[in-house]
Amino acid sequence: MKIVLVLYDDPVTGYPKTYARDTIPKLEVYPDGQKLPNPKRIDFKPGELLGSVSGALGLKKFLKELEHTLIVTSDKDGPDSVFEKELVDADVVISQPFWPAYLTKERLAKAKNLKLAITAGIGSDHVDLQAAIAKGITVAEVTFCNSISVAEYIVLMILSLVKDYIPSYNWVVKKGWNIADCVQRSYDLEGMDVGSVAAGHIGLAVLRRLKPFGVKLHYTERHRLSEKVEKELGLTYHENLESMVRVCDVITINCPLHAETEHLFNDRLISQMKRGSYIVNTARGKICDAEAIARALKSGQLAGYAGDVWFPQPAPKDHPWREMPHDGMTPHVSGTSLSAQARYAAGVREILECFFEKKPIRTEYLIVDQGKLAGIGVHSYVAGDTTGGSERAIQFKK
Ligand code: NAD
Repeated sequence: MKIVLVLYDDPVTGYPKTYARDTIPKLEVYPDGQKLPNPKRIDFKPGELLGSVSGALGLKKFLKELEHTLIVTSDKDGPDSVFEKELVDADVVISQPFWPAYLTKERLAKAKNLKLAITAGIGSDHVDLQAAIAKGITVAEVTFCNSISVAEYIVLMILSLVKDYIPSYNWVVKKGWNIADCVQRSYDLEGMDVGSVAAGHIGLAVLRRLKPFGVKLHYTERHRLSEKVEKELGLTYHENLESMVRVCDVITINCPLHAETEHLFNDRLISQMKRGSYIVNTARGKICDAEAIARALKSGQLAGYAGDVWFPQPAPKDHPWREMPHDGMTPHVSGTSLSAQARYAAGVREILECFFEKKPIRTEYLIVDQGKLAGIGVHSYVAGDTTGGSERAIQFKK
């Protein structure tokens, strides 16, 4: 079989020869009891860089032994890209949301042999799910693999925005000691109202981590949490997003991007938020209208916006979020810590082992299967397509 693996580039300084730490903690189960990935074997040392081209998700030896053809590339955008050329006879495509190989309807039509699209991570919005359903292609992701990695990053970003940490850091780099400059936009999180859009694996983990900060917690969800959890965390449930954003100081977005969440945060919704609110979005860039966010930061309607997700990815050099004020943007990194990479590389291997041996892939990993939404796809997504405009990712190169 032919497997096409699309990964981000190696570091500009070359593939690492040594690492900052010698080991990473070994986890036994996820917080809800779900089992960690359990392939028969792995051919990498947890803690190594696996998500870049040379790391190849630790799959080279495994696929060579089974005599499959493996193509690894970072060249994914545009009709002349290696990905688009190799796609035509690929059986399996694997890519990470950090450097997504967009599988639009047009590309899926060219991929005559494609049977399986694996997301090495969580979030399969880079695949036209409607077209995958129509073509009987299985879409699977490694559910829970990096949800806690992201929840930790969200706490970091909320604190960084509310305290205005990044400008203070920059004053030190500029050799200054400008305390008044640093604190004129700096507040405490304590006592604020914080709301999560969704309380799935990430949203719930964020709510749990924020409780000790003495904040008032809110959430809105398609699937309401149990009364026990609501009580334990002191959560206020909102039937709709509008009612939640009106009372919150901080909003954290934790729902997938699907046909119903595209551009959810537009001018209209943002105008209903309290003046001076903060948004942290590590879910997907396209859940927000990029221009509306930039406008709200300039006008002061939003006091800050942070996140690591953009649309398209990589973000073009002229993307409005690269230049807007009071932001704490990074490239898409929160779910690809070295710790997370070890989990999703093992998860991809587990999915491939099942696929080659014609055994069922774990239900909790499935987004689309046998011509319909399946597994976590039924719980968290709606059918549809959110890849429109992804061809603009090629502009990053220009
Ligand atoms: P999950 O499937 O456990 O949770 C998603 C939750 O969203 C579900 O409980 C679902 O009911 C809810 N939901 C769906 N549509 C909704 C809507 N319209 N309103 C309210 N709730 C809605 O997934 P997760 O592990 O919590 O991850 C969530 C998302 O975060 C992923 O789909 C992905 O887009 C993003 N993510 C980003 C990174 C990163 O590196 N930045 C890493 C992992 C995941």
